[in-house]
Amino acid sequence: MVSIDSTGRVVLVTGGNRGIGRAIAERFVQEGYRVAVTARSGEGPEGTLTVRADVTDSAAIDAAFTEVERQLGPVEVVVANAGITKDTLLLRMSEDDFDSVVATNLGGSFRVVKRASKGMLKARFGRVILISSVVGLYGSAGQVNYASSKSALVGFARSLTRELGARNITANVVAPGFIETDMTAELDESTQAEYRKAIPAGRYGSAAEVAAAVTWLASDDSAYISGAVIPVDGGLGMGH
Ligand code: NDP
Repeated sequence: MVSIDSTGRVVLVTGGNRGIGRAIAERFVQEGYRVAVTARSGEGPEGTLTVRADVTDSAAIDAAFTEVERQLGPVEVVVANAGITKDTLLLRMSEDDFDSVVATNLGGSFRVVKRASKGMLKARFGRVILISSVVGLYGSAGQVNYASSKSALVGFARSLTRELGARNITANVVAPGFIETDMTAELDESTQAEYRKAIPAGRYGSAAEVAAAVTWLASDDSAYISGAVIPVDGGLGMGH
């Protein structure tokens, strides 16, 4: 059952036009939040405000927040979800493969959360939720760039918790395992089968299952949880 305790809070989800971000935005709409999504292309789900922004561009992020503030009010919950992969083995990984993944996944989270924190400090309320990955702590051959960018989000959330925890602002990490989206559809069939074998649940997760954890972290029920890493991975990462 969906518990409605959001009192119409304003949430912004980056990369809300497809995949996990879209499912998160849908779930927030269902729970009665006022929802904005950033998208480089396409639109967010029904009932959301779509604003254009590339998370590697601070000016575009600032403009997107200003638009959300104008139309919905200050952002109280921010979900840094936009992310990319550029997988290849270390010896073949170019500096651009490394830098662009870190600039999007880690740098993008930094830019978005920094901009959101201004309003949160003023309001003395905030929920920061960073979408990491099981591979951030588990490791993954061919993903030195991606895994580094995702494990860094743990240090990010924990440092933010120490900086802003006394202001009624929480910062948590959600670490999905293998979720059915465009990102995992890119993997070849044998890799997919191998992963499926390693997952105790024996299946990939759905974007809606990630969304359920995210909305819970935004809710009043999780007010005393901060600096945590919540896995949504069918048991794949246990203990990592
Ligand atoms: P998708 O590839 O389906 O979607 C990625 C989203 O990020 C899109 O909305 C995309 O926008 C957006 N995005 C990418 N780069 C930028 C950018 N520079 N600026 C703004 N938006 C950008 O991915 P998923 O939904 O699968 O993944 C969402 C998050 O979950 C990512 O952070 C990913 O690392 C993480 N994750 C996914 C897992 C999975 O199994 N799928 C597992 C663990 C973590 P556009 O449509 O314009 O490209």
